[in-house]
Amino acid sequence: MSRFFDLVSKPAREMGNAPVSARSAVESRRTIVRLDSNESPYGPSPLALEAIRSALRDCHLYPDNDCFPLRARLAEQHGITPDQVIVTAGSTALIGILCQTMLGPGLNAIIAQNTFIVYSLAVHAAGGDLIRTPMKQDGLDLDAILAAIDANTRLIFLANPNNPTGTTVSAEATREFLNAMPGHVVVVLDEAYWEYAAFFARLRGDHYSESLRYVKEGWPVVVLRTFSKTHGLAGLRVGYGMGPAELLAYCASMRNTYSVSSVAQVAALAALGDQRHLRDVVTQNASQAELLSATLSSLGLRVTPTSANFIHCDVGREATALAQSLHREGVSVRPLGTWGLPNSLRISIGSADQNRALVDALRRVRP
Ligand SMILES: *Cc1c(COP(=O)(O)O)cnc(C)c1O
Repeated sequence: MSRFFDLVSKPAREMGNAPVSARSAVESRRTIVRLDSNESPYGPSPLALEAIRSALRDCHLYPDNDCFPLRARLAEQHGITPDQVIVTAGSTALIGILCQTMLGPGLNAIIAQNTFIVYSLAVHAAGGDLIRTPMKQDGLDLDAILAAIDANTRLIFLANPNNPTGTTVSAEATREFLNAMPGHVVVVLDEAYWEYAAFFARLRGDHYSESLRYVKEGWPVVVLRTFSKTHGLAGLRVGYGMGPAELLAYCASMRNTYSVSSVAQVAALAALGDQRHLRDVVTQNASQAELLSATLSSLGLRVTPTSANFIHCDVGREATALAQSLHREGVSVRPLGTWGLPNSLRISIGSADQNRALVDALRRVRP
């Protein structure tokens, strides 16, 4: 096939043709309303920006490889110890590290059919096998996942809320699921959108998540969180995991050295100190979610009730052409064909202005 085909590792060879969902540089330079990557339209906290500016003066120095101040702060906030926290260059880096740490030839990970695309990429890159289980309506089917476990299963990824459908699994269902888990399986509870979800749950009187309790009780569970979503620091790449100290120590030894920049570390610390910004973000997101969901429904799209900062909708036919038409109108949304949902779009909930631009564009292309 080419010069290096026979030289690269088997996973690299097999992944050579995998779809890459990154945005092209050309696209990002144009002025376009970007509702395709679940970024925060409200930006980072001013406190984070201030911390970033002053950290730049010391950027000739290597960062703290152990991210200690940030880990200590996260541990204190969550009522756990710093060795139960690992900080990585985004939580997607930790997904990769968990796969490298737990998987290998003959071992498998289980994920739902329509879930975060990074899981499958990370499992393949680690040379593991992937088992995909069916969905229940638009949500995760925990019984189907349980039924798929075998002696070689090492990891299960639960995105809660699920990306791209925006659905949650309740605290009760999760606890029951964990109770049924055999001892050789680690469950990854990916809570990238947890602040949004917790806020929605309070509004609706639902019981969202008790994930920290499992960490405190020492269950074989890793809870993933990120600074990319509510904290608006996606471009700096910083996320974290909470779980058993021994497992996280193995993961820490598998990280790339100095992979979390000094700027990212101080920005994250400062962001944690701005509760008001966080509250504004989740409050505005929830009210825009309600408005946008109602409008999309009135335009004939089948909208899945969301617990995150994006809306999954079924447009009733192949959705790629619609996404392309919207793009020509200056609005970028995510068609979900490569996620196994050819008739669906995932639309990030923007600011009021961005959402208006989306709805106007939708009316123009789909009268
Ligand atoms: C956005 C997202 C993440 C966060 O990725 P980062 O690498 O921290 O930016 C993790 N999991 C899911 C399901 C997501 O949607």
